[in-house]
Amino acid sequence: RLEIRDIVKSFDGRVIVDHLNLTVMPGQVTCLLGPSGCGKSTTLRIIAGVEMQDSGTIHVDGQLVCDTVHRVPPEGRSIGLMFQDFALFPHLTVAQNVAFGLHGKDNRPRVESLLTRVGMLRYIDSYPHQLSGGEQQRVALARALAPKPKIMLMDEPFSGLDDRLRDEIRDETLEILKDEGTAVLLVTHEPGEAMRMADEIALMRDGQIVQRGAPYNIYNAPVDLQAAAFFSDIN
Ligand code: ATP
Ligand code: MG
Repeated sequence: RLEIRDIVKSFDGRVIVDHLNLTVMPGQVTCLLGPSGCGKSTTLRIIAGVEMQDSGTIHVDGQLVCDTVHRVPPEGRSIGLMFQDFALFPHLTVAQNVAFGLHGKDNRPRVESLLTRVGMLRYIDSYPHQLSGGEQQRVALARALAPKPKIMLMDEPFSGLDDRLRDEIRDETLEILKDEGTAVLLVTHEPGEAMRMADEIALMRDGQIVQRGAPYNIYNAPVDLQAAAFFSDIN
């Protein structure tokens, strides 16, 4: 499980993440939901280790991953990433993309089994440019799952897809992640997406979590007028 305690981050004297606390449980999808610019991606980058917080701690399964003194590098955190702008390596085949984060020599069996899971085995020797957007997402999922991360961070990973494909890939992705028992933290600014995907929603505003709970509890009892208005936009 992922535990975030009292994270603070400022850019140019402006507080972007403001004493943020959040716990993500194994086998659960927690949606970090909030309007554009509220600090969602910054929070995810801090958890991933590509951005450093000003203060606060992050633990994965009880192990300290970073505070203001210690800092485990991104690849040592047991955290998988699926970001919209974290595309496949164009010069590598599907197999090489999936094997990228794996150590050791003969990864072929593991790569084949991962690609089978996401329904992409027949594209194993293709290059990313030969795949559709949805197919690339599937490969990206296989690549993210390859090192068996305990936590999966997803920053609007499905936003480039059309509606039907998005629903399909979203459902498949969640099923695979739940099977693996991975703790999922998914960022979205769409309340509808959070309602569909989340076991728990953490509603974010101005760098803080203003409400958290099961989707329908939040939907039925928004913490204030602003939250109610945000949810009224649902589609
Ligand atoms: P969106 O839904 O639009 O993706 P977000 O909630 O993910 O929004 P962030 O990307 O976390 O928002 O950005 C929050 C704020 O922090 C923005 O105002 C942004 O300009 C600022 N910010 C983010 N990264 C930096 C940086 N490296 N330097 C300066 N400001 C930054
Ligand atoms: Mg963002």
